[in-house]
Amino acid sequence: MKSQKISTQFFINYLIIFFLILTLVVTTFLLHNAYTSVLQNDFFIDIDKLIEDYSVYDLKTAAKNQNFTSEDYIEVINEDYEIIDTYNSPKNVGFTYTHKKLNSQIYSDDYYEYYVFYIDGTDNFTLLHMSPINSYTEVILLFIVFFIVLFFVSLIVYAKVSSQKIVIPIKKLVNGIEKISIGDYNSKIEFNATNELDILKNSINEMSNKIKSEINLRQKSEDNRKKLILNISHDVKTPLTNIIGYSQTLLKGKNLSLDDVKSSIKIINTNGLLANKLINELFELSKFEMNNEILPIKSTDICELLRRKLIQYISEFEDKNINYNFNIPNENISLNLNVIQFERSIDNLIQNSIKYNGSNFDINITLKKAMDVITIIIEDTGIGIPKEYHNTIFEPMVRVESSRNRTLGGTGLGLSITKHIIQRHGGTITLDPNYLDGCRFIITL
Ligand code: ADP
Repeated sequence: MKSQKISTQFFINYLIIFFLILTLVVTTFLLHNAYTSVLQNDFFIDIDKLIEDYSVYDLKTAAKNQNFTSEDYIEVINEDYEIIDTYNSPKNVGFTYTHKKLNSQIYSDDYYEYYVFYIDGTDNFTLLHMSPINSYTEVILLFIVFFIVLFFVSLIVYAKVSSQKIVIPIKKLVNGIEKISIGDYNSKIEFNATNELDILKNSINEMSNKIKSEINLRQKSEDNRKKLILNISHDVKTPLTNIIGYSQTLLKGKNLSLDDVKSSIKIINTNGLLANKLINELFELSKFEMNNEILPIKSTDICELLRRKLIQYISEFEDKNINYNFNIPNENISLNLNVIQFERSIDNLIQNSIKYNGSNFDINITLKKAMDVITIIIEDTGIGIPKEYHNTIFEPMVRVESSRNRTLGGTGLGLSITKHIIQRHGGTITLDPNYLDGCRFIITL
């Protein structure tokens, strides 16, 4: 749709109003003229007939044959300005005008009131006094009123019609904004306009959508926070309960065998380590989330770093009958890395593979460079992560099978920390949704 500015619309409106007034003025003028000419015809005096009747009959008969009203009169005046005959005149026969008086009388009031006609062949003339066209001023007034009424009616009709493009959209905008102000972000403002109001409508709708998604996001993060606190409390409580229980047994127990004491201390130690690990990882994660500072980095050969790291795992892989395959180019690819944190993220991924898949599976670690992008792929042929966890697996405390996880010593924070570390290096980490033989984590840097 072609957009039209409000100013253009107003200009068109003013133009239409101008032409409306012009048309009304012309119409009123024409109607007025037509009406007065009809009136004039009604008061038309046939002067030839009047003079003819006067010569055949007398002045009274001649006057009566015309449309004389009671106010009309006629005087026959000779060359000396003396009245020699009258009909209905306030002046009597024998009254003599002075030249000045006659003139002033003829040209006095209304132009239409006095007519002078000479009687053929003589110097006598008739002075015809006609009452002005009936209530002429009333006719003018009538047409002024007619004009004003017509003007206002047309103006109201026009205002109603033209306001559809401005007033109705504004009303809808106001309604929409009121709804947004009371928190109703679902209703959309809808109207068809081709001017700036359309832009305003779209901006308000967009703003409402943004607020809505912002609120949803806040709600979601609030829910996540509550869930996290619940999970943390639960995860800290379990080892602490064990520590308290077994330490009390040791304190109160009588005649405990050395084996019982040893196994209780072992349980206390394992649970203590688990609680400690959880607290440490939570602390790490909080540091990443609270603090956006850039990690201290140095230029490092990433191929060399990976090769060194993997060598550390070879004996564990062989012990557990894990088939390993490293695909790392034999070249120097330098990257700015925080070596400790980066190694930690690689450790997390490899240790997860070992932890959750036990033995007898394959692990492939690949590094590729294409253009300026480095991709590290760590994949295994283990149990994999079910599809429904793919969207949330990098969130803190998300574990596929909580109870099994706890016995394996998992905190559910490893992948979250890994993701933070990779992001701090300007990279991304994803879990390949199309890989179905186990888990495939793809890091791009
Ligand atoms: P945790 O510290 O408990 O290991 P992570 O955040 O590292 O937590 O991992 C989250 C969950 O993802 C784990 O509980 C585990 O179920 C699953 N997971 C991670 N890596 C693998 C993998 N290689 N194979 C199977 N499951 C995995």
